[in-house]
Amino acid sequence: MPWSLDAWQLTARMRTAFSIRIRGVVQGVGFRPFVYRLARAHSLAGWVINAEAGVEVHVEGTEEELQAFIHELETKPPPAAQITWLDVQVEEPEGLSEFTIRESLRRDRPTVRISPDLPVCNACLAELFDPHDRRYLYPYINCTNCGPRYTVILGLPYDRPFTTMNRWPLDEYCAAEYHDPANRRFHAQPVACPACGPHYELRVDAETVRGDHASVRRTAELLVAGKIVAIKGLGGYHLACDARNSAAVRALRERKYRKEKPFALMVQNLEAARELVELSSEAEQALIAVARPIVLAPARAQLPGVAPDCDELGVMLPYTPLHHLLFDGASYDALVMTSGNLSEEPIASRNEEVAQRLHTLADFFLIHNRKIQTRVDDSVVRTFEGRERTLRRSRGFAPFPIDLGIPVEQILACGGELKNVFCLTKDHYAVLSQHIGDLENLETLRSFEETLDHMKRFFRISPVAVAYDLHPRYLSTRLALSMEGIEKIGVQHHHAHIASCMAENRLDGKVIGVALDGTGYGTDGKIWGGEFLVCDYADFERRFHFRYVPLAGGDTAVRQVWRSALAYLLDAGCDTGRVPNVLAERVPAKARGVVEKMIARRINTVDTSSCGRLFDAVAAILGIRLEANYEGQAAMELEALADSFVARDIEPYPFDVTGGEIDFRETIRHLAKDFENTTLASARFHETLARVIFEICGRIQTSDGLNRVCLSGGVFQNFTLLRSTVDLLRRAGFEVFLHARVPPNDGGLCLGQAAIANRRLQSGLCRQ
Ligand SMILES: [Zn+2]
Ligand SMILES: [Zn+2]
Repeated sequence: MPWSLDAWQLTARMRTAFSIRIRGVVQGVGFRPFVYRLARAHSLAGWVINAEAGVEVHVEGTEEELQAFIHELETKPPPAAQITWLDVQVEEPEGLSEFTIRESLRRDRPTVRISPDLPVCNACLAELFDPHDRRYLYPYINCTNCGPRYTVILGLPYDRPFTTMNRWPLDEYCAAEYHDPANRRFHAQPVACPACGPHYELRVDAETVRGDHASVRRTAELLVAGKIVAIKGLGGYHLACDARNSAAVRALRERKYRKEKPFALMVQNLEAARELVELSSEAEQALIAVARPIVLAPARAQLPGVAPDCDELGVMLPYTPLHHLLFDGASYDALVMTSGNLSEEPIASRNEEVAQRLHTLADFFLIHNRKIQTRVDDSVVRTFEGRERTLRRSRGFAPFPIDLGIPVEQILACGGELKNVFCLTKDHYAVLSQHIGDLENLETLRSFEETLDHMKRFFRISPVAVAYDLHPRYLSTRLALSMEGIEKIGVQHHHAHIASCMAENRLDGKVIGVALDGTGYGTDGKIWGGEFLVCDYADFERRFHFRYVPLAGGDTAVRQVWRSALAYLLDAGCDTGRVPNVLAERVPAKARGVVEKMIARRINTVDTSSCGRLFDAVAAILGIRLEANYEGQAAMELEALADSFVARDIEPYPFDVTGGEIDFRETIRHLAKDFENTTLASARFHETLARVIFEICGRIQTSDGLNRVCLSGGVFQNFTLLRSTVDLLRRAGFEVFLHARVPPNDGGLCLGQAAIANRRLQSGLCRQ
C-alpha cells in the first residue's frame, strides 16, 4: 500500500489533525460507520464523507490517538473493504468537538467503486440463529459488512431507491438502525426484516408453501428425499440436490443434458470441505475469502456422478443466509449447486423465465420476490505457487476494477466467444464484466448487451474505441463492427492472451509470449493455438508455431476428438487401419474412412496449429477418450493420468523444430505404440510439451536477448504442464509471468484486447 510519510514527520504537538484520503472498495462496504466507530473509540473529532474517488476523513485529537487510529484503519478495515491507496496529510485542527458522518455533496456523481456481492458476516449469522432476534431465520438478513451489492444495484448513487430493494419501504425498526451511525446497519442499503422485507416461497406443482422458514424447511426435506430443487439466489438460480445421493445426481445430469461435466458442490462448512478435498492452507484461504468462490482441489472422497473421471472437485462454502438455513439441521453436508441453465446459456434470473426454462430440470422451485438485476455466476479458482488463480472471475470479484498502473483511454474490449467476459477501461482501471458465458445464442448476447449498458452507466464510461477478436464469425466481433461512431481495433487472439498476462503483471516492452489454447483466428485465416510470439502491446511477431494439421469437420472435431487423432496420425504417416490401434478398434471403419477421405481431399477441413487439438489427438490415440462431452474434457483426463504418474525423471518424446515450425510427427509415432501404458505416455507427453516450450524460449532468448516469458491460453489451466514448464524456465534463469486475477483462458482475453487497443490509440497507430 503506497503511503505518504508526511504523517509521520510530525512535531510533537498536543492536538493536531489529519486529512486522510482512501481509495479502493471503500463504499457500500460499511466503511464510513467503521471510521465513525473507530474515531469515537479514540476520542477523535472530525468527519467522514464519501467522495468522488473514495472516502475522505478529517480527524482531530492527540497525536498518539491519531496514530493509533491510522494503524487500525489500515490493519482492521471491514472484511469486504479493499484499500488500494491511502494518503495522510497533516492539517491545522479546526477545533471540532465531535465526530460526524457527512452526507455526500455531489449525489449526482458516480462516487462508488461498486462492491461485488458479499457473503453473510458472522455478526449477522449469529443473529440469524438467535431465537430472540428480530431477524431469526430470516433469509435476507444483512448489514453494511455483508449482503448483496452488484446484483441489486439499479443505478448510482448506491442508495436504497436505486436498488432492487426499493419495493420494500423500511419499517420503524429497520429505519432506526439505518439512520443510527453507531449501528452496524447504518446506511446498509439492502437492510430488511421479516416485517418489512421480501420473502421466500416454495412452489410445488400447483401448490405453494409460503413463509420463509416453512419453505426453507420443506426444501431441505425435499433435498433429503433426493429431489432436485431450483433455488433462487443472489445472481441467479442454482439447481440443487444432495451430492451424496447418486440417483439424484444422475437425474440432474440427464435433465440438464450434461453427461460428464463436473458439478460444483456447496459444503456445509470447512470441516465438510476438508473431508471431500485436500486443502492446502492457500486453498482454505481462498474458500473462506469474501469472494467465496468455487475452489478446485484434489478429491479425497468419491461422490458418484459428481465429477466423473476427474481427480478434482470444485467446492464452495455457503455465502447467503439462505444457504446457511438450508444446511441447518439437515442430514446432508454437501449439495450439488449447479447454475440453473440448460447448456451454456447465462444463468437464469427472472421468475417468469425460470418457470419457462427450468420446468424440465427441477421438480420444485424455492423462489423469492426480489428481482435479480444482474446475473452473476459463481467464480472458480485454483491455487498455484501459494496464490489464488482465477479460472472464472464472476461473483465476488466482478465488477471490482483491476488497477493497470498506467493511465488508459476509455475503451470497450469485447472479449472472445467462449467464456465471454468484456471489459471497459478508464483512468488507470480496467473493469471486467462478470462471466457472460458462451456467446453462441441470442440469450447470451442479450446478457452481454444488458451488462454492457449497466456498466457504462455505473462507471460513467463512454468508449472512444472498441477492441474485438479477428474471428469474423464471433458474435462479439459482429457486435463490435456494428457499433457506430467509435474507432474499431481488431486484435489477434493470441496476442490478446499474452497482452492480458502482461497487463495483469504490469509489464511493458517486449516479452516472449507462449500462447497455447484450443482455437484462435490467425492472421493467415487458419486456426492457431500453439503459438510463440515476440510481442509488446503495440504489435507481435509469430516466431514459432505448432505444425499445421488439416482437421476434418471443424467444430465437430472438438466433440469427436478421434478426428484430431486421425489428422495427427495421418500427418505422421501412421497406418490408421492397423490393429492394434485404438482408433482402428473403436471407431467404425466407415466413419474413419469418410474422415480420412475428407482429409486427403481437403474437403471441409481447416488447418490448425491448436495445442488443444493436439491434446485431444493424444487422448484419443491412447484410447483415453474418443468423444468429448465438454470442451477440454480429453485434456483434463490426460492431465489427471499424467498427474498420477510419480517419477523423478520423465523422458520426453522426440520432436523437431524446422524453421518456425514445431513438428510433433515423431512424438505421435512414438505415442501410437505406447497405448498400453497410458499413464506413462501421458506423463511423457506433458514432459514433451514442457521441453518444447523450454527449447523455443531458449532459441528466442538467444536471438532476441529477451528473458521475460508470459504463459497464457486455456492450456495453462493444466497445472501439471504449468508446473513442469515453470520449473524448467526458472531453473534456466527466465523470468516467468502467469495469470492470477484474470483467467488464462478466453475469459481473460478482453484485458489483453484493451491493453493493445490502448497502446495503439495512445501512439496513434490506429489512425492511418
Ligand atoms: Zn452482516
Ligand atoms: Zn424492517
